[in-house]
Formats: sequence, structure tokens, C-alpha cells
Amino acid sequence: MQRRNFLKNSSAAAAGLLSTSLIASCKEETNAATTEAQAVKTIRPIAICTWDFKNATAKAWEVLAAGGSSLDAVHQGAMIEEADVTNQTVGVGGRPDRDGNVTLDACIMDKDGNCGAVLCMQNIASPVSVARKVMEDTPHVMLAGKGAEKFAYEKGFKKVKLLTEQSKQEWLEWKKTSKYKPIINIENHDTIGILAIDKNGDISGACTTSGMGYKYAGRVGDSPIIGAGLFVDNEIGAATATGVGEEVVRTVGSFLIVELMRQGKSPQEACEEGVKRIMAKNKGRNDFQIGFIAINKNGETGGYCIHPGFTYRTYTEEGHINNPSESFLKG
Ligand code: ASP
Repeated sequence: MQRRNFLKNSSAAAAGLLSTSLIASCKEETNAATTEAQAVKTIRPIAICTWDFKNATAKAWEVLAAGGSSLDAVHQGAMIEEADVTNQTVGVGGRPDRDGNVTLDACIMDKDGNCGAVLCMQNIASPVSVARKVMEDTPHVMLAGKGAEKFAYEKGFKKVKLLTEQSKQEWLEWKKTSKYKPIINIENHDTIGILAIDKNGDISGACTTSGMGYKYAGRVGDSPIIGAGLFVDNEIGAATATGVGEEVVRTVGSFLIVELMRQGKSPQEACEEGVKRIMAKNKGRNDFQIGFIAINKNGETGGYCIHPGFTYRTYTEEGHINNPSESFLKG
């Protein structure tokens, strides 16, 4: 029952004027409201990530199921993908820029709105871990390039060679033609954005990537940019993005989605609106992919993309699910 009606009905009752029919209608409204409230089941803990990164959500779930924080869950989940040499879009297996250097971007954000990011960092295997150190051990939010790398060494991270033989050979082939254009979803793996709610109901997120393959040296996309590639608001929910980062930055996509949820949209509706805003700015152009995922405080999730093919993974006590995402351009 709306507060307005409640006040009206209460004063009428106090005056002894409440008719039987009003009592009945008030009861009906109350019952309807109770049923509605019961219908929204709170799901927690929960982990959700872009694409089919099942090892990442499994790791995050392990942390959550043991009573760990959402911050540790997203951090450890993201690290799993960073360490996977077969993943050519994240961490140690990442594709290089056009000069042959692998440069990594990552960010992390916690329930209190604390955040840290590293941009265009070389020679370090786990950028999300350095991002967390930026968040926890510095007064800053972002460190870039050589500064980020120097900070990582100061924090005890080891220098590693990031360019794998496979990524190197593919880059050498690309150099012969210089005609590489990303093929939407063919690789079926991409940047990992991961969100989690722990048993206390607290939300955190992380996002990590090697960025667009063969990008200009120094290019940074959306993934380490708080508000674009990732945003968490512990009162409302969280969102994260994958795809052509330039378009996500132009729309401040993840922040937009969280704000749309604040206005009452479900995670699914908010992701759909986020993609539609991007499409509205690109009239007549759809040769690129964006995928958003979102979660609200109740643990409801959603995902939406431009082209069919994007999926996202959720892990709850009911198990692991790979969700095909609805798309703007139906398949
Ligand atoms: N969003 C990433 C970037 O633009 C790349 C991706 O998700 O494929 O750097």
C-alpha cells in the first residue's frame, strides 16, 4: 500500500469511519504488496562475469562459498583469466599492440566506492592485483604505463615476458597485411568483467584486459576506466562491459547502467538501454560489438549486446549457468 493511502486509511480508522469494504480493500493491497515483496527473491552470494569464463566464476564462487568478501571473489576470479596463457584477450596470453608490446589494463572497485586501476602496463602478469594495490596502498585511483610498472615492482610483483609465441606469430602475420579487423565474437572470449555479491550483501567488481589487438601504442579502452568498463554502487548494483571500449567510454556505459537501475530499471532493462544509447550515437553503424552485464542488490542479473553471440556466466548456490545474452540485432 502506498504511504499516502496508508495515512489516509489510518486517520479514517482513528475516526472510527473505516468501512468494511475499505478494510477489505486495504487488506487486499497489503496482501498484494507482501506477495510482490516475496516474489523478489534475494540471491546471494552470487558471481557473474562476461563471456564464458567459467574458471573465473568458479574461483569467485569458491571464495564466496567459504564466506569470503566480494572484493576477494572478483579479484581472484579475474586473476584466473589473467594467468591463462590460452586467453589472448586478457593477461599473460594477451595480443600485443601494433608495435608488438603487450600492454594491460585493469580496474577493481569495492562496496565503499574505493577503486584502483592500471592502464597500459607492461611486463606484469596480474594487472588486477596491481590495481588493487593502487586502491589500497596509494591515495590515487589510476597509475599508467611506466609509473604503474614501477609501482608494481615496488610492491613485489615480478617482471615477466608477456608476449606468448602464439600471439607473437599472429602479430607477425598481421604485420604482413596490416589488415586485421576484429571479427565479432569469432574468438568467443574477450575482456573479463566480473561482479559479485557476498553473503553480507556487499558488491564488488573487477575488469581486466589486454585491450584491442594491434591497437595503437598507448591506446587505452574502457576496461580500466571507472564508470565506463566497470561501476559499483553498493546501494544499487554494479555493471561491467566488454567490446569496443571507445564506444563504452563515449557513453560512460557502466555508470549509466547503474544509474538506470537506481531509477527503477531491472538489470536487464538497464543493459538494454545502455546498448540502445550506444546505437543511437552510431546511426547506420553496427560493425562492432558491445556486451554489458549488470547485477542489482537483490542478485538479479541481466546482459545485453549488439550482436548475438555474447554470453555471460553466473554462479549461485544453484550452480553454474552460461546465459545467452539478448541482443539488439537479433541473430
Ligand atoms: N573493452 C576492451 C577494450 O576496449 C576490449 C574488449 O572487451 O574486447 O580495450
